[in-house]
Amino acid sequence: MGEYATYKEQEIKIGTCEDLYYLRFDQRDRIRDYDFTPDVFRYRFPFPDEDGIEPGAFSDHDRGERIPGWTIPADWIGHYSVQFIAQAGYVASLPCPESVGGPPGLDPVDVGGVKVHRNGWHGHAVVKQQRLLNGQLLTVVGCNACGAAWRLETLEDAEPVIVALRAEADRERRLRGQEARADYLHTIADRIAQGYAVSVLA
Ligand SMILES: [Zn+2]
Repeated sequence: MGEYATYKEQEIKIGTCEDLYYLRFDQRDRIRDYDFTPDVFRYRFPFPDEDGIEPGAFSDHDRGERIPGWTIPADWIGHYSVQFIAQAGYVASLPCPESVGGPPGLDPVDVGGVKVHRNGWHGHAVVKQQRLLNGQLLTVVGCNACGAAWRLETLEDAEPVIVALRAEADRERRLRGQEARADYLHTIADRIAQGYAVSVLA
């Protein structure tokens, strides 16, 4: 079900059910005619390159920022199945290849006895959303292969993701000279950490 609110005297769509794809938490006070109770919503993550975008105006509703060098731990339950399609007209559903864990990289993975190779792969883990809980904004990470998502309950849980983003930022700066990209990744890491630092409702 679509979620709608008023912004600048116009009706805007802010999301679908509990996923507010088109609204960041820091934009809540800018809209009217919407009841945030009970607050069970997942907000759009504040991606730094979207800081100037108005509520409701975001494109790519399900955007996620890749977390290089980090994979979803194998003991996390909740991946969906992934459909495989062969040109000769075969279709198969297998457990998500990212559900079996293993080191980050492009090596083939064994999914229930089937060796799955990666080719033009973009099934990586991503930073997706923020979920308000007990005054903290918990980061929600997702699996780009199957679409499953999990929230990182504590700063300690979020730390490996923060470390991975900062490590990639440092690689961008030192090895590739990409200053802007490095700043961008560090800012995402900062914003993940800030969500756990203080009560955002205080
Ligand atoms: Zn998955």
